[in-house]
Amino acid sequence: MINNGINSIKSIGPAREKLFNKLGIYTVEDMLKYYPRSYEDRSNIVNICDIIDGENILIKACAVTVVRNNRIRRGLSLQKLRVTDSTGIVEITWFNQDWIAKNLDISAEYYFYGKATVRNHRVEMSNPIYEKADTAEFTNKIVPVYPLTAKLTQKIMQTTQIECLKYVGELPETLPGFLREKYTLCGIDYAVSNIHFPETFEKYGYAKKRLAFEELFYLQTAMRLLRNKRTTTNGIVIDGNNFACEFVESLPFKLTDDQLKVIDEIVLDMSSGKKMNRLVQGDVGCGKTVVAVASAYAVIKNGYQAVMMAPTEILANQHFESVSKMLNGFGIKTILLTGSMTAREKREAYEKIKTGEAQFVIGTHALIQKEVEFRNIALVITDEQHRFGVKQRSALSVKGENTHTLVMTATPIPRTLALILYGDLDISSVKQMPPGRKPVSTYSVDEGMRERINKFISKQVSEGRQVYIVCPAVELSETMEELKAVTQFAEDLKAKTFKNHRVAFVHGKMPAKEKDAVMNDFYNGEIDILVSTTVIEVGVNVPNANTMIIENAERFGLSQLHQLRGRVGRGKWQSYCIMFCQGGGEVAKERMDIMTKTNDGFEISQKDLEIRGPGEFFGTRQHGLPELKMANIYEDSDLLKVTGEASEYVVSNFSKLNKSDAKMIKEQIVKMFQDVSNGDFS
Ligand code: ADP
Ligand code: MG
Repeated sequence: MINNGINSIKSIGPAREKLFNKLGIYTVEDMLKYYPRSYEDRSNIVNICDIIDGENILIKACAVTVVRNNRIRRGLSLQKLRVTDSTGIVEITWFNQDWIAKNLDISAEYYFYGKATVRNHRVEMSNPIYEKADTAEFTNKIVPVYPLTAKLTQKIMQTTQIECLKYVGELPETLPGFLREKYTLCGIDYAVSNIHFPETFEKYGYAKKRLAFEELFYLQTAMRLLRNKRTTTNGIVIDGNNFACEFVESLPFKLTDDQLKVIDEIVLDMSSGKKMNRLVQGDVGCGKTVVAVASAYAVIKNGYQAVMMAPTEILANQHFESVSKMLNGFGIKTILLTGSMTAREKREAYEKIKTGEAQFVIGTHALIQKEVEFRNIALVITDEQHRFGVKQRSALSVKGENTHTLVMTATPIPRTLALILYGDLDISSVKQMPPGRKPVSTYSVDEGMRERINKFISKQVSEGRQVYIVCPAVELSETMEELKAVTQFAEDLKAKTFKNHRVAFVHGKMPAKEKDAVMNDFYNGEIDILVSTTVIEVGVNVPNANTMIIENAERFGLSQLHQLRGRVGRGKWQSYCIMFCQGGGEVAKERMDIMTKTNDGFEISQKDLEIRGPGEFFGTRQHGLPELKMANIYEDSDLLKVTGEASEYVVSNFSKLNKSDAKMIKEQIVKMFQDVSNGDFS
C-alpha cells in the first residue's frame, strides 16, 4: 500500500499530483515521510475573559449576531460577527469573504483560531480560521505546518496526510522489537500519526525520538557494514614509497607537509593488502591533484592502470593537460576519455585502455560506460566527489577487482560528521595552502555600488585580468522566465555596460559542447568577462582570472559562495570577490559576514552545517546518502551516541539476531541506499 503512487489517493488528480511531485512526493510513503516544518497549537481553548493581547488563541463560542456584510468600497468588504462563550464577547472581522454569512449559523457553536487584540477591554479577532465545534477537524488540536510549493495550501497538505494515513491503515514496522524495547521507542504507527497530528506535545516528543533514532541507527549501521566489508576485502598490493618520492622530487615546487602526509597515508593504505577507500578533503587550491597523481604514479610503476574521473569535461581536459605534463617525462602514457569525443576517438581510447597501453586514464562519466574495459586497474580516483553519488563511485570501482579508491573533495566536512556520513571511507585532510597564496579580498555590496564595481571590472580587464560574473543557477524545474532574466542581464552587459570588452555567457541549459567551447575560450584568455550560472562552480583553474562577481549572493549557500570564490586567487595577482547582496534578510547577512571574515574552507563548511543542517548541506541526491529528515546531527548528539551503540551491537551480533529482525534491518538498509548497496549487505 505505502508503495502505491500518490494518485491512489482519491482527492489527488493529475494537477495536484504534479504539485506533490515538485516536493519530491511520488508515493503514499513519500507523503507520510513528508514531515511538518512546525506545528500550530490550536489545542487549548481559552476563555474569552483570559485572552491576552497579541496572542494566537483558540476560542469556542456561539454567534450572538448574524454576519453583517459591509461594502467599504469597490474591492473591499468587511464581514463582522459578534460571538460569546459566556465569559466575554469577541468582535470578529473578516475581509472580502462575502460568502461567510452562509457558513455561520447563529445558533451553533464554533471554534475560532487566530490572533486576538485587546483594546480597552474590547476583544477583537480578524480573519480567524473557524470550524463548527462538533465536526472540527483542524481546530481544537495541534495542527501541522508543512513546507509548501506554489498552489498547495496547508489545508490540502493536511487533508491529504489524513487521507494517506487512512489509506494505508496499519504501517509495517521498520525497527526491530528488541531495539524498541531496549531504548523505549514507540511503534511506527504511533510515530507516524503523532508526527503529523500529535495529540499532545508529549506524544510528538515520543514520535520524533523514535523516527530520529531510526534514521541515525540505519545510517550508522549501513556505514559500519560497508566498512567491515571493506576491511575484509583484499586489495591489490602496491609497493609505493620509493616511487611516490621519485615523483614528488620531480615537481617544480615543494609539497606542503600536509600534501606529503596524505601521500604517505595513501601509499600505506595501498601497500596494506586491504582495499583502500580514502577521502581526501582540502580547500580549493590546496593542491589535491598532485597528491592524486603521486598515488597514480606509484600504481603505474607497479605495472597497473589508474583512472581519474572529473565531474565536467572542462575539468577533465584541464586535468589531462596538467597531468600529462607531470608524467610525460617519465614515459607514462596518459589518455583522455570524454563524452564529446568522436566515436572513432572513443574507440581508439577503449582499445588503449583494454590493451593497457593507456596507463593513466582521465575522463568524465564516459568512463563508466560498459565499453570501457581495463586491462588491470588498481586505482580509481574521483575528483570533486560531492558531485558524484556513491553509486557512480562504485560503478567505476567495479571495473577492476580489489581496486583502491581515492575520492577528493573541496567541500570539507568536520571529522565527526564525516565519520558518520562517510563511515565507509577513511579521511585525510589537506589544511595547509601552498606558500605565497594571497587571501581573496572579499566584499559584500548593494546596488548603490553598481557603477563603481563596473568601473572596477573594466580596470581589471584593461590590466589584462579576467572576470567571472555569476548569477544564481537556472533550475531545471523553474520556468523559462528566470533563464530569460539572466540571459537579458548577460546581453545588456555585452551590448552596453562592457561593450568594449569580450563578454560571453554560459548557463546550465546550454548543450555541453557549446558550454565547453566557451569555457575553453575563457581558459585560453580569449574572453575577458564570463557571465555564467553556477556551472563554473567546480574546480576550473584559470589563474589569470582574479575577480569574481556574485549576483544575488543571498541566494547561494555558504559553501557554494566559498567554492565560487575559490575560482579566483589562483595566480600571482591580488584577487577580489564581490558579492551583490539583494535582500535575503538576517540569514544572508550572516553568510556575507562569514565570507568577508574568513577564507578558511573548514571554518566555512562548519558554519554552513550549523546554519543549514547536513541534509541541505550535502544535497541528498548528490552524495547518494539518505536524507536525514528528523535527526539533526548537531542537535541530537546524545541520540547519536545511543544509536551508535545500538548499531555497533547489531553489526557485531548480526548472525545471532533472530531471523525476522535481521531481515527487517537488511531490508531497511537496502531501501535507504537503494541500488547503491547492490544487495551487498550480508
Ligand atoms: P585543488 O586542491 O583545488 O584541486 P589543485 O590541485 O588544482 O587544487 O592545485 C592548485 C594549483 O596549485 C595548481 O596549479 C598546482 O600546480 C599548484 N600547487 C599544488 N601544490 C603546490 C605546492 N605545494 N606549491 C606550489 N603550488 C602548488
Ligand atoms: Mg581540484
